[in-house]
Amino acid sequence: MDMKQIRQQLLEQKAELESRLQRTHKHIYEKDQPVSANFNEQIKETENDQLVMSLEAEANEELNQIRKALQRIDEGDYLDCARCGEAIGEQRLAAVPYTDRCINCAKP
Ligand SMILES: [Zn+2]
Repeated sequence: MDMKQIRQQLLEQKAELESRLQRTHKHIYEKDQPVSANFNEQIKETENDQLVMSLEAEANEELNQIRKALQRIDEGDYLDCARCGEAIGEQRLAAVPYTDRCINCAKP
């Protein structure tokens, strides 16, 4: 496996998530538009905010996993499952490069 390439891919994903989070954060906390006086409009805006916030939470979670994966690469245990210690497998890592679990341990 080309660890350099994986590292690069993770770094790119990380950068993309960080810029996405910056945008959603701005959307939620630095509204340049005053809150609408119309009640229905307000509800729509609130629903939209909740959606954006859940997307933000998701992106944060993914970002955490990417940070961990990068750390695992640096420490040399990227290829091994964090739970059982078995190899995660190239196919799985290619599909989910920031995972730290093998397919068996990832199952709920
Ligand atoms: Zn495992």
